[in-house]
Amino acid sequence: MSQSSPLHAPPLAPPLAAPPAAGMRQAPPVTSHVASRTHKFGGSSLADAARIQHAAQLVDDGTQRRVVVVSAMHGVTDALIGLAHQAQRGDDWLPGWQALKQRHLDTARAVTGAGLDAAIAADFDTLHTRLVDIAPRAPLAPAESAWIHGLGEVLSSRLMHAALGGEHAGWLRLDAREVLVVHPGELGVAVDWEASRRRLAAWRSTRDVRQVVVTGFVASDAQGRPTTLGRNGSDHSAAIFAALFESDALTIWTDVDGVLSADPRLVPDAVCLPMLSYAEACELAYFGAKVLHPQTMAPAIQRELPVHIRNSLNPDAPGTLISASSTAASAGASGTPVKGLSVAQGLAVLELSGGGLIGVPGTAERMFASLHAANVSVTMISQGSSEHSICCVVDAAQASAARAAVEAAFAEAIAEGQVQGVTVTPDISVLAAVGDGMVGKTGVAARLLSGLAQARVNIRAIAQGAGERNISVAVAAADAQRGLRAAHAAFWLSPQTLSVGLIGPGNVGQALLRQLVQAAPRFSGDHDLDIRLRAIANSRGMHLADKALDPSSAVDALAGAEPLDLERFTEHVRAEHLPHAMIVDCSGSDAVADRYADWLAAGIHVVTPNKHAGSGDWTRFQSIQAAQRRGGRFRYEATVGAGLPVVQTLRNLLDTGDALHGIEGIFSGTLAWLFNKFDGSRPFSELVLEARALGYTEPDPRDDLSGTDVARKLVILAREAGLALSMEDVEIENLVPPTLRDLPLDAFLARIDEMDTDMQRRLGDAQERGGKLRFLACLDADTARVGLAVPEPGHASLHGQLTDNLIQFRTARYPDNPLVVQGPGAGPDVTAAGIFGDILAIAQTFGARA
Ligand code: ADP
Ligand code: ASP
Ligand code: MG
Repeated sequence: MSQSSPLHAPPLAPPLAAPPAAGMRQAPPVTSHVASRTHKFGGSSLADAARIQHAAQLVDDGTQRRVVVVSAMHGVTDALIGLAHQAQRGDDWLPGWQALKQRHLDTARAVTGAGLDAAIAADFDTLHTRLVDIAPRAPLAPAESAWIHGLGEVLSSRLMHAALGGEHAGWLRLDAREVLVVHPGELGVAVDWEASRRRLAAWRSTRDVRQVVVTGFVASDAQGRPTTLGRNGSDHSAAIFAALFESDALTIWTDVDGVLSADPRLVPDAVCLPMLSYAEACELAYFGAKVLHPQTMAPAIQRELPVHIRNSLNPDAPGTLISASSTAASAGASGTPVKGLSVAQGLAVLELSGGGLIGVPGTAERMFASLHAANVSVTMISQGSSEHSICCVVDAAQASAARAAVEAAFAEAIAEGQVQGVTVTPDISVLAAVGDGMVGKTGVAARLLSGLAQARVNIRAIAQGAGERNISVAVAAADAQRGLRAAHAAFWLSPQTLSVGLIGPGNVGQALLRQLVQAAPRFSGDHDLDIRLRAIANSRGMHLADKALDPSSAVDALAGAEPLDLERFTEHVRAEHLPHAMIVDCSGSDAVADRYADWLAAGIHVVTPNKHAGSGDWTRFQSIQAAQRRGGRFRYEATVGAGLPVVQTLRNLLDTGDALHGIEGIFSGTLAWLFNKFDGSRPFSELVLEARALGYTEPDPRDDLSGTDVARKLVILAREAGLALSMEDVEIENLVPPTLRDLPLDAFLARIDEMDTDMQRRLGDAQERGGKLRFLACLDADTARVGLAVPEPGHASLHGQLTDNLIQFRTARYPDNPLVVQGPGAGPDVTAAGIFGDILAIAQTFGARA
């Protein structure tokens, strides 16, 4: 087992041009027919002792030859880079050094007892010496910093080696710097395959190599000095060692279920991609999918090595298989031709423009040759066919150098005014849609661009190669996340995905949640409607869910919820990555109704059984109406008649050109029941108490008897019919005598029989005229009234049952025999059904087949 420190070690192999070392021919022949696999574990899979032990178990895959490539433990590379910076700045690095040493010692002890103490202490002593040697504020030699940055992999390889049982279990440990030789290449780090193979053969010649733990990330240069493969480079190491050891397959273990359709930190709805072609994986990695280092694919492609990305925290998930086969046929989820979306950040747009460029041959060549000479790498290029300008996207850090290079190349043309000059737009991100299935498919770009347009993301430049595997758009960095989510929604989500926030889950709200549970299976089929309950709140707290709450347990989420903040609630519901948003207000709160206009103006639909908005302040109602003409839709069917189609019927009449002459009816189930029963055989107060016991009245029956609730419903219908009516305009008969109105509830209930004499007299008068008492709401050209009436014989209100509501519309089309809507008009289930109906009616407006 090597303990060498390559920085001080003599070069481990002869220079590249030297003839093959003699030992090479004696090396055991490479036996690729024996099943063999390379496993790579990222830092998150090696975060602590338990994870390391778990990882060691995952390696047990039944193959005879196994190579395990490891990253540093989670966060260790960052910590080492931090120590080097501190030393360079002259800051105190000792506490950080001690903490890192302790973390490794603790982990090692948990994995294997004290067996690794000496080796780890020695590594940290060397690190200590090197940090002491760093001269403050002087540049650090690349080999010196590479040694420090790469120590994490050396340490983790010791831990993994021990977790696998060490040499007793037949495992060797290889410090990649002993064999892997690389040099800087045009596209990043390039492997000196020849030298690396030779060195590996030499290393193997003295060992029986079946099972090896290899340090990822680190390598040597041709002079034997330490270097690295760049941040995140152990994926690349894994592919290189899979090739060097001639493995049949490579598994990259990470902390997500595979390659996802987009970065899950930016797009919560990202889905796992079961299969990718090498080309797709390259494009995604190159354009920023951190799950794979962009250079990983090259060694795999050459050997047609299948690469499996799997989740070490969830090994049962199938993961993503990356292979040579094109996956055009197996397009992504929901049949989308796009496999994945990624975003590259920290870029700038460079544009060369001028009338003098039109039709001039060689402009592009001159521009890109100058960029090449200045060592500027170009992420994307776009030129309109008018040739008036050429623009490209470059790394922000290289933007000034790029501009200077292009200006110099066109200095003469600029001086002569043929070229206006070179402009640089900073803070750019490039969003790329990738997929083999995009080839030859129409409408892909349209879907991407309309998704971006919907999220109001302006496109600065756009490019699609003739390969058609990648469409790239440059957007302002500030728009990148919004754009990514919108584009993701355009390809992966049903266009009828609705983000819903529920306020006030009382009896009615809970009934609605039950109905949502029952209806869910229907929506996923033909309806294509994806209702996602993403937020729930009551007056005390709220719970916001990134994806969706299960409606059957959503109320439980309020236990221990965070304090209610309606601003954040609103922002969360109006998730930009979901096409539609809606707030369902079951709160009965006037303060919540104050928010409707803003919500509607922001495009959020509002559905409510809350009567405050429809019958409250007239100016507020007008601003709600104005907001819904431009933004979201406002529906409140359940405010009148619960589940009965009252508002909807009136709207249909008016929309189809009918003229309303009058509305009349019984708008309260409680009062309907009381007067259906009240025939003089029992005192009125006794019936009220019975209704209360049956749950037909509000807890305080005066809320029903006052007539206010009925008047509110009348105002709502009047406003729906276009009248500027408010509660002050309604003549309301309060059945509670003035002497009982202000009493506490108990006192009122004790003295309720004081109502009886008057009610008995009213009934007697009605009966004398051969009639019955009904509590009616009436609206016509000159009256808006709620109160007791004695309807003409034959009036529909005389035929209602129990708690039936009954609303009759007299119109130009129904002049003498009015249109009647009748049925039970109260209770949580029917009210919830009214709300649900409104939700579906709104969903239909954006295309759901509800
Ligand atoms: P490891 O330590 O295993 O190398 P990384 O942190 O380097 O892990 O890469 C995995 C992370 O990459 C994931 O946790 C995820 O946040 C991020 N990521 C970005 N884009 C994607 C994507 N398209 N698919 C999967 N993960 C992605
Ligand atoms: N440990 C290195 C890094 O953090 C390499 C890797 O994890 O792939 O960049
Ligand atoms: Mg990584």
